[in-house]
Amino acid sequence: MAFRPHPKGRIMNPKPHDETTRHSILNGTLHLALDMDGTLYKGSTLFAAAKPFMECLKTHGITYTFFTNNSSRSADEHVDNLADLGIEARVEQIRTSAHATVDYLKLNYPGVKSLFVVGTPGLRAELYQAGYRLTRAKPELIIVGFDPSLSYTDLCKAAYWIDRGLDYVATHPDFVCPTDQPTLVLDCGALCAAIEAATGRAPVATMGKPHPIMIEGILKRRQLSHSQLMVVGDRLYTDIAMANAVGVHSALVLTGEATRADMANSPFQPDFVFQSVAELGEALTESFRSTQQR
Ligand SMILES: [Mg+2]
Repeated sequence: MAFRPHPKGRIMNPKPHDETTRHSILNGTLHLALDMDGTLYKGSTLFAAAKPFMECLKTHGITYTFFTNNSSRSADEHVDNLADLGIEARVEQIRTSAHATVDYLKLNYPGVKSLFVVGTPGLRAELYQAGYRLTRAKPELIIVGFDPSLSYTDLCKAAYWIDRGLDYVATHPDFVCPTDQPTLVLDCGALCAAIEAATGRAPVATMGKPHPIMIEGILKRRQLSHSQLMVVGDRLYTDIAMANAVGVHSALVLTGEATRADMANSPFQPDFVFQSVAELGEALTESFRSTQQR
């Protein structure tokens, strides 16, 4: 797909939207689903554009939810992490793959009350708060998440129950977790691959991006129509794929993983592409201004 460069140098229109449609999309956006790592910060470094962007959203009355595949932290812990980076957030503004997992369980396993969890205290806390009994003895379902202090015994025990016929749900598909340390951090997908190799059984479902349930939960809780929500993220095959699957608008920022070259070969296309969230803020401001002048 060919992209028309914006006069300021940004690629503005990957999807074939005309100027009127672009303004209409931006003006109709009431809520942003914001990816975090690669979009607002990298590792422990907040992007310079992040704080002014959040101020811009407040100015325009646009609300937002931070969403992440990282189920190892509870919502409370994500709030603390954002605060450490200098971004204010409330617990209800956080949606993790653990929340998506709870939504999935309530819908597809309404009778299940007890879980065996391979995961961090943060993940266990979210599931416990959602009303599940966490047990090692006679669980009804297995949950596999990311766990940097993984217990080999727990992994074996999970495989045992799965081999005996219990279903298991993965909180997210990622095989490795980004790190700046000289190591490879095995993520949820890699743990599930080990279980599958041992038992011959794959997870019945894998939550997290790009599963539509991540966004559907935000639409439902906030009572938003599809046209009122925009996904903002740095990955085509997770953030943008999810937006495309749900049928909501999306903006790709080039501060993380995806590059312009990636876009040419991707089946997942955003409505907008910006160098950073700063340009998204400018586009929102420009769009609102032009509407007011009409
Ligand atoms: Mg990201």
